[in-house]
Amino acid sequence: MRNILALIAMLVCLPVLAQETVGEPPMPRVRPAELGVGSSTLPAIRPAWTVVMPAERPTETLLVPMPRVRPDEAQDAPVEATAVPPETPGTPPAAPDAHIVVPDVPAVPKEPRVFQVACPSVLQGQVEAKQLPPISDKQCGAQSPLALTGVLTNGRMVPISGAVTTDCGVASAMPEWISDVDSYLKGRENTQIAEVLVGTSYMCRNVNNATAGNLSFHAFADALDVTGFKLEDGRTITVEGDWGDPLSAAGRMLRYAHDAACSQFTTVLGPEANALHHDHFHVDLGCHGKTCTSRLCE
Ligand SMILES: [Zn+2]
Repeated sequence: MRNILALIAMLVCLPVLAQETVGEPPMPRVRPAELGVGSSTLPAIRPAWTVVMPAERPTETLLVPMPRVRPDEAQDAPVEATAVPPETPGTPPAAPDAHIVVPDVPAVPKEPRVFQVACPSVLQGQVEAKQLPPISDKQCGAQSPLALTGVLTNGRMVPISGAVTTDCGVASAMPEWISDVDSYLKGRENTQIAEVLVGTSYMCRNVNNATAGNLSFHAFADALDVTGFKLEDGRTITVEGDWGDPLSAAGRMLRYAHDAACSQFTTVLGPEANALHHDHFHVDLGCHGKTCTSRLCE
């Protein structure tokens, strides 16, 4: 009986003794965070409570499409006042960039600005002339034309026949030339010039009235045709009527006048230049030679 009780007592105490005799500590619980990456020794164990996130849907599927605008609604839709500011007349459009300076003047002026200059010979009383408005006729024209009516000749004003439209250059060369011819008449013929007879002044045409070619200096009011002279003794000497007799008093006077013009103008063409000048002296201030210092005296 004692043995039976001892056996029962040993069976009851056996689990407690077994736990106390094992010295190894119990394995710690593995936390879910320590599983997986970095754990090469432990097997990858998916914890039972791991939540698997669903795959993201494509972005476009998240966009909510805007409703279509029907044409009638688009036309009737009110325009916001702040969308486009209304333009006011005379106000230049706003600059697209603040760094760009918009000039106040328009880029392309509608009409060329007029720069007229005063003629010193007019201001000094060397010629009698009025300034005319600028001439602009196709390719022809003059910026500061003059209506020339008189030339100061040896201290007196000698009138010019007809209306002469010329520029300041031609007008300024006239007093010296006419005074020179007047002095010749005073010394050789005991008379003086009463009037200068003229033909063409400004005219929009080509050289020698040709249908093609260069524009004449007449087209720029930079040329004058002188046909003859009225003298104080009553005679009228013309290129057309008196050039042909070089030994006559009138013939000599006309040749003197022709050569004297070559001292004042760069171009002088008379009856010996060509048949077109049989009745007048053409004078202008055209350019001859590379440096415009040559003269054409024919
Ligand atoms: Zn001419």
